[in-house]
Amino acid sequence: MAILVLGGAGYIGSHAVDQLVHKGYQVVVIDNLQTGHRQSIHEKAKFYQGDIRDKKFMQEVLKKETIDDVIHFAASSLVGESVEKPLEYFNNNVQGTQIVLEVMEEFGIKNIVFSSTAATYGEPKEMPMVETMATNPENPYGESKLMMEKMMKWCDKAYGIKYVALRYFNVAGAKSDASIGEDHDPETHLIPIILQTALGQRAYLGIYGDDYDTPDGTCIRDYVYIEDLIAAHIAALDYLQKGNESNVFNLGSNTGYSVKEMLEAAREVTNKEIPAKVLPRRQGDPSKLVASSEKAKVILGWQPKVTDIKQIIETAWNWHVSHPKGYE
Ligand code: UDP
Repeated sequence: MAILVLGGAGYIGSHAVDQLVHKGYQVVVIDNLQTGHRQSIHEKAKFYQGDIRDKKFMQEVLKKETIDDVIHFAASSLVGESVEKPLEYFNNNVQGTQIVLEVMEEFGIKNIVFSSTAATYGEPKEMPMVETMATNPENPYGESKLMMEKMMKWCDKAYGIKYVALRYFNVAGAKSDASIGEDHDPETHLIPIILQTALGQRAYLGIYGDDYDTPDGTCIRDYVYIEDLIAAHIAALDYLQKGNESNVFNLGSNTGYSVKEMLEAAREVTNKEIPAKVLPRRQGDPSKLVASSEKAKVILGWQPKVTDIKQIIETAWNWHVSHPKGYE
């Protein structure tokens, strides 16, 4: 079975390619390398460099390769940046998915597993968050992902393209052998920034607001281990291959940690002081996001294996210590 992985050179995509190859799938990767890293793609995967918005390029790849299913990670994914540059987010994410669905329809590819986000919900009215909650995104990133989900819903009705949208909470950590990990430029995510501070690459961690309505005033997020998250994608592929209906699942650990709690956990793991100071709030940040992943557990049979936050941070720390300059 050949799986087309869009955005397979990114942080999450590269871990997916790695697991798929180890499970014996043939893997074809498309990535424009705008934010991804060529070195992160498993050597057994076939790689085409190009943009998913380039329809001719997409058609050429699909003429050459026989693809059974698609996993779609190719998107811009920063909340803060999306507030500044909404049109870039709609262009890359929505227009990109439009082309992906057009070529899937043209080439008769019927299944897509799609990387969605908890940001589709906006500020939640109940906790933990379940898939039946209203979606009311508070930033263009979340809005673009919700639009992508809706495009898939209508393409299912019209063309029978089946999809699973996986709404990620905060994806964290690195492969257990530290051979691949998280390398963004610029880095905006909490765990890598904390660990870069621990390595002395940054003067301090800036905590974005301590006046939220949470016990310690800092934002609460639900961190899910990257290898567990990818296992859910493989379970979702299996679910679609068995002919099941399109569906939406949250992927999280059902536990929330505040920014200050993450900092404390990282201090323990790294045994470093890690200076920090409180800065103003970042635009577009909800105060608390914690998943209920019951639905993925019941329907996909998904069970996260690494749920201890220190263990997750440790895998990221091993990656940062062994790759202090990322993939360079
Ligand atoms: N955060 C922070 N300082 C940083 C980076 C992130 O305080 O330098 C906070 C951010 O406001 C959010 C949490 O850490 O509440 C997780 O942010 P991240 O960007 O990692 O993921 P997001 O929740 O935006 O997807």
